[in-house]
Amino acid sequence: MPATCLLEGKKGLIMGVANERSIAWIVAEVARQHGAELAFTYQNEALSKRVWPLAEAAGSRLVLPCDVANEGEIEAVFNNLSDSWGDIDFVVHAVAYADRDELRGRYVDTSRSNLTSSLMISCYSFTSVARRAAALANDGASLLTFTFSGARRVVPSYNVMGVAKAALEASVKYLAMDLGDAGIRVNAISSGPMRTLSGAAIGAGRTIYHWARNNSALGRDLNRNDVADASLYLLSELSRGVTGEIHYVDNGNSIIGISPLQDSGKAEAP
Ligand code: NAD
Repeated sequence: MPATCLLEGKKGLIMGVANERSIAWIVAEVARQHGAELAFTYQNEALSKRVWPLAEAAGSRLVLPCDVANEGEIEAVFNNLSDSWGDIDFVVHAVAYADRDELRGRYVDTSRSNLTSSLMISCYSFTSVARRAAALANDGASLLTFTFSGARRVVPSYNVMGVAKAALEASVKYLAMDLGDAGIRVNAISSGPMRTLSGAAIGAGRTIYHWARNNSALGRDLNRNDVADASLYLLSELSRGVTGEIHYVDNGNSIIGISPLQDSGKAEAP
């Protein structure tokens, strides 16, 4: 039990748990430890078998189907939350999808259909969720999504997901502006690479993990608590003056332009 309960009395929806490695689950665990009451969604029946036991471990009986490609299912989730809770304090959106076959090779080969579905699921779903959450949200509510630095710079194999994340990051800013009047904050965490199901779908995943560790200010792998604690900050009142932010939790990888030479003895004289 933490010394402080930063989310005591708060109610939050967690979207994107596939298993115990999922970023959504990492955030759910810390939110629960800090006193939040949680509801969960799952993408499909196959995943419901994994999500239910985790949700129960987090003390939740509100576990709802939601394929975000289906607007009706998103609407049904918020109708259910309206009936069950009446209001809401935070939403964690940790959902993304692109055709695995196009998370390798070249971006230039991306198909129209994959670009469309990647944008719908990985970007538009957050806007759709935010609009519905806003109708139930209390003053000071926090909406949080997850992005990756492949939105801003070229990362091998990330391809169409980089384009979808760039759109997601822009939408965070527009949503923050639109919902600010209602006291609702909207932020994203740009996480360094984590070993999850989605991470494993990226063709050059192993290269990306090694590169991120070897080219970061802190020079280590990112761990679960790094992402959990930053999420807790953005969900809680500690960040009450923060909105529209893309917050990097990446050991300082994103600040690197050119890494210092690993072996300065081999540096060439200018
Ligand atoms: P994950 O595979 O555990 O989670 C992805 C989730 O998206 C799954 O629960 C899946 O069911 C859900 N999803 C996909 N399509 C969906 C749909 N149509 N409807 C509803 N849900 C759907 O992987 P993760 O790494 O925890 O990913 C969570 C988020 O974090 C994603 O947005 C991902 O891009 C982002 N992220 C991940 C990393 C990383 O290295 N793993 C780094 C930065 C950002």
